[in-house]
This record gives sequence, structure tokens and C-alpha cells, in this order.
Amino acid sequence: MLADFHVHSTFSDGKLTIPAVVDLYGQRGFGAIAITDHVGESRTVIGKAAGHLGLCLTKATFPLYLEILKSEAERAWRLYRMVVIPGVELSKNSISNYRSAHIIALGIKKFMSADGDVADIARNIRNEGAVSIAAHPVDSGKFEKQTYHLWNRRFELAQAFDAWEVASGDRLFPEVLNSSLPKIASSDLHIARQMTSWKTLLDCERHPEAILDSIKKQKLNFRFYRDSKNDNIHSDIHSGYGSLVESGSYRSSFGDYRQPVA
Ligand SMILES: [Zn+2]
Ligand SMILES: [Zn+2]
Repeated sequence: MLADFHVHSTFSDGKLTIPAVVDLYGQRGFGAIAITDHVGESRTVIGKAAGHLGLCLTKATFPLYLEILKSEAERAWRLYRMVVIPGVELSKNSISNYRSAHIIALGIKKFMSADGDVADIARNIRNEGAVSIAAHPVDSGKFEKQTYHLWNRRFELAQAFDAWEVASGDRLFPEVLNSSLPKIASSDLHIARQMTSWKTLLDCERHPEAILDSIKKQKLNFRFYRDSKNDNIHSDIHSGYGSLVESGSYRSSFGDYRQPVA
């Protein structure tokens, strides 16, 4: 099954509502997705400002986020047989790229803080029974905020994360690919157009525990997913329930990438 474990919604800086994200992936036959909206640091100016501007989840918005994720997971299963996993992207944003780090937690049950050292955050994620992922750890090649902190501590943190993003969006990271670190490929989707990107391919039961277990045990592959359908979607418009339901067919082409056996 095709899966994507890094997706944003209007609860942080994504342009699609959670229902619109569910329909976007469900209509394309995906087996699993994780919604991973940003949580910023509570003590830094950048983190506080992001929360204030609605670009990050806060303790105040988090209960509604979890509630909607729960009801949308039910709808996604009923309509599409697609698993929706609740997640967050704990975001440490500094003026320096070398002090910035984004960490994804999958399978969360309560609010998680982005404060403190990344090693403690990673440990905390696992203590909560969630899966920890080092997000876009190397140069994304785009004109955007870069997050190098985790990569620069990769030898020390190698065991701290269940997976490191080997691709983000349409970028494959050779440094991660050629490393012995556990891997995962995700889109970091903010707008529908970003559906064309690397995804993770799993061969397991469509059940949250089986899916998270496949990540931890690295029973996965990567695939480049090309989506021509959403060229027609006005992705800058916040979509509500069912608004992405369109008639007609769409073409998707795949390019497979198999991990070299370590
Ligand atoms: Zn990020
Ligand atoms: Zn992200």
C-alpha cells in the first residue's frame, strides 16, 4: 500500500483542512497517511509567534485537532479503507539552520512539547509509545528554512529515531540514502500540488499498529508518485468536506526505488 507520513493541514501551515487531506489521499487509493501539524517551542520568540499566528498547534487547539483526527480516521476507514494516524511535527526553529530541527511523532495520544534537547524529545516520543522520525535532516535544495541540527548529531542520535526522511517532497537525499540509518520517504505536503512526491510503500495489514511496526522494523520501500489530477485543483483554497470529490479519472505514474540491502 502507498503511505505518506508527513502531511500538514490548516491546523498549522497547510492549506487543506483535515477532511480535504483525507479525501485527497483516499480518492487516490492510499492505504495510510499521518497528519503531522507543527508544534512550536513555547519559550522562543519564533515558536510563540507561530502559535499566535495559527501556524502551529497550541495546547489550546490540540484537543480539537485530536478530536477531528479521530472522526476523520473513522470516515477515512469507512469510505476508503485508509488508516489515518495522528501525528505532530515538533519544530525547533532558530535563526541558525544548524540549531533548527523538525521531529515527527506518529501515533500520538496527547500533546507533545517541542521544548528541550532533541535527544530528550525523541526519548519522550518513544516513552509515549509513538514512532519518532527525523524530518528533512539535510539540505532540501529549496529556498526555505533548513534544519541541519539532527544530521550534525546523526552518529549520536542514530538510535534515537525510528526513521530518517530519505526524501521530502520530490527530493531524494543521497546523504541519507547512502547512510545506514533507518529510512522513510514522505511528501511534507502543504498544498495538493505536492502530491507528486516520494512516498513510502508498505506491505502490511491496514491497521495503525501494523503500520507503525513496519516503520520500526524497516519493512518498507520508497516510490515516486506522480499525480497529474491535482493540476486542476485550486490548492490555495481551503477545502471543506468532499470538495475535492471530482468526476473523471486521473493518471498516476510510478517510479520504483528499492533500498539497497544493507
Ligand atoms: Zn518540517
Ligand atoms: Zn512538515
